[in-house]
Amino acid sequence: MAKTQDPRTIGAPVVSLAMPRTRRKEGRLLDEPVGGEKRVLLAAPRGYCAGVDRAVIAVERALERFGAPVYVRKQIVHNAHVVQTLERMGAVFVDEVSEVPPGSHIVFSAHGVSPAVVQSAEDRGLHAIDATCPLVTKVHREAVRFAKQGLEILLIGHEGHEEVEGTYGEAPDAITIVNSPDEVDSLEVNDPDRLIWLSQTTLSVDETMLTVERLRERFPNLQDPPSDDICYATQNRQQAIKQIAPQADLVIVVGSENSSNTMRLVDVALEYGAKAAYRVDYTSEVQQAWLDGVRTVGVTSGASVPDVLVHEVLDDLADAGYHELHAEVAAEEDLVFALPRELRVDASGERDARALGGRRSRPGVSHAK
Ligand code: SF4
Repeated sequence: MAKTQDPRTIGAPVVSLAMPRTRRKEGRLLDEPVGGEKRVLLAAPRGYCAGVDRAVIAVERALERFGAPVYVRKQIVHNAHVVQTLERMGAVFVDEVSEVPPGSHIVFSAHGVSPAVVQSAEDRGLHAIDATCPLVTKVHREAVRFAKQGLEILLIGHEGHEEVEGTYGEAPDAITIVNSPDEVDSLEVNDPDRLIWLSQTTLSVDETMLTVERLRERFPNLQDPPSDDICYATQNRQQAIKQIAPQADLVIVVGSENSSNTMRLVDVALEYGAKAAYRVDYTSEVQQAWLDGVRTVGVTSGASVPDVLVHEVLDDLADAGYHELHAEVAAEEDLVFALPRELRVDASGERDARALGGRRSRPGVSHAK
């Protein structure tokens, strides 16, 4: 475990989304004695991944270039605060492209869309900006390639999740969704010797491997994809909380309920020994009772969470006597994705100097809270 001078700056960029103060003004957390020194173990990396950063910047840039309203299909990323902030800036979130006036600009979310959605947007005369994370696009391409090769794809993921819907839509006749290891026994396949598995990018690494093991027990000739589909950001955040969990009396995961990778962090924390683990959107949701007798609090956040929300939790924990802060560094991240093609040129058709997405890649740009 590394202790640093300012661990709050490690592992996740501080982002520029304007931030209403969410710290409790009244009913602050109390500094109750717990029979020893109180400390916080702060996970690194945590918060924004490269795909989320790119998607949020894409909406901001689209608003700047084309003016409000810019429509966004589904939540651009699964975080309540990010969505509300972009709404205040002029983004309008819709469930389907049929809700968008013809001729408007629409951004597709980081979770990706099926070809049918792209076609509907085109049919409606919309100007689409595709903010699908490149790591999700990679899974789409694999699905198309394997389907063309005549393979049957077992897609491990949560049915109904937007990412899974998008990938499924690439090759619906060739894909069967597998929600969990428990579903393996009841799966029906056409040819047990022509199977390959793919997965959603934000699953629990351990549970996915368990599903793959069960699949292989039942279908010994199951093929593996060329590389893992669970993305680097999901894996790194889970690794960091695995290191923290055995030492933690309590783990607080900042993130929204509909964020798959956030929910998996709660699961992983409990699985690896945290005595308790809770998810909160905002620090105001942290309850005094959770801190009863707690000496060590682990703190992390999902891949769609601006770090300012974590800072608010740390400030409230400091009020409750958790002054000692240690960073638990599982990996360093510096991946940055280029912005969607539609935003890489400026209004005059010239390449935009800020075409490379990612706030950390743009020196001089404010990282203000
Ligand atoms: S969690 Fe992974 S797949 Fe999803 S947006 Fe972030 S980097 Fe991309």
